[in-house]
Amino acid sequence: MSAGSADPNQEERRLRERPSILDLSFAELEEIVRGLDEPAYRARQLWISLYRTLTPSFGEMSTLARSLRAKLEQHYTVDCFETAVEERSKDGSTDKALLRLRDGELIETVLMRYEADDHRKRRKTVCISTQAGCALGCTFCATGQQGFRRQLSVGEIVAQVMRMERIARAEDNAEIAVNERSRGERQGVTNVVFMGMGEPLANYDNTLAAVRVLNHDQGLHIGARHITVSTVGLPDQIVRLGSEDVQINLAVSLHAPDNATRSQTMPINKRHPIEEVIEACRDYVAATNRKIFFEYVLLDGQNDSVDHADRLGRLLRGMLCHVNLIPVNPTTEGPYPRPGRAASKAFQEKLTTHGVASTVRMEKGIDINAGCGQLRARALTETR
Ligand code: SAH
Ligand code: SF4
Repeated sequence: MSAGSADPNQEERRLRERPSILDLSFAELEEIVRGLDEPAYRARQLWISLYRTLTPSFGEMSTLARSLRAKLEQHYTVDCFETAVEERSKDGSTDKALLRLRDGELIETVLMRYEADDHRKRRKTVCISTQAGCALGCTFCATGQQGFRRQLSVGEIVAQVMRMERIARAEDNAEIAVNERSRGERQGVTNVVFMGMGEPLANYDNTLAAVRVLNHDQGLHIGARHITVSTVGLPDQIVRLGSEDVQINLAVSLHAPDNATRSQTMPINKRHPIEEVIEACRDYVAATNRKIFFEYVLLDGQNDSVDHADRLGRLLRGMLCHVNLIPVNPTTEGPYPRPGRAASKAFQEKLTTHGVASTVRMEKGIDINAGCGQLRARALTETR
């Protein structure tokens, strides 16, 4: 439809509702470019402008011919959201953004900066959302308490990383200017975790497509081994993920060693009991030969006793896995206090007696509600 002949209101609506170009895979972009009678190498230039140089608008993509830029502008946008709230923790390690999608839905993205320690190099990790809200209702989770709104598109998932990548690159460049640190070191975001709002494997296709975009060697090029998808434990999707050709890490939210305890905080356990989840995990390990990460949120008085640790050890012994123990981030609505250091340590020691390796995960951004869904919950409370 040409702009001239259309009703101006309709034309305005059409422009407002243009799809995001970030929803397309590289192959789809090639097809679009071909359809516009442009040479194939233009697709690669466009992809590089979008995902490597992070050019924020078609107008600024100076490697592309002006006519192509105008055509793209007619049919697509590069934007997915605007920033509603942005906060940095007092220690400067964590940035959190509440993003307003084009239809008004709110999602959260977090950037966490970690200094090098004995085990790992310094890194910058982005935690991204895959759904607006979540249907699964875990009782300790701020997102779960807000209900499901909708699936995120591929572009909406990837753009969260791009947003934080701009910040991370800018600060790396500023630091290099001062320190003359080695330029060979990768700049910007080093790791991505799908641990924000929503259940990634309930938005399976878009999650996988987003992983492929993040991993693409002409774009952000985040190594698959630096990408972690966290799931509440959907057995069929875990097995399916094991058959994909991507080498990402899988984290499974276990949070209890038995069905009675797990069903109290995770309604999904009634549909997919723990045995099913563990069986799927064993299949996954057998198919991929990759270690699974089990997440275990420690809830004071609920799942954090040495006896729970003993049962968890029995459940997981002999399996290629690692347990991340996470003292709960208290939410406004959740009734669970955070256990003390002694309880976490005793829990960890008991796991060790079964030969099950674990880490107590460092907490970040508590002062800015950096836990899953907490900033949105607060923003909604404040605007109510
Ligand atoms: N839906 C997926 C991924 C998003 S949640 C999943 O459940 O795995 C990412 C992780 O944060 C999960 O392990 C989840 O259990 C955990 N989490 C949720 N609420 C939390 C809280 N209040 N404190 C600490 N961890 C929490
Ligand atoms: Fe959903 Fe994960 Fe929160 Fe459970 S913990 S409600 S699955 S986002």
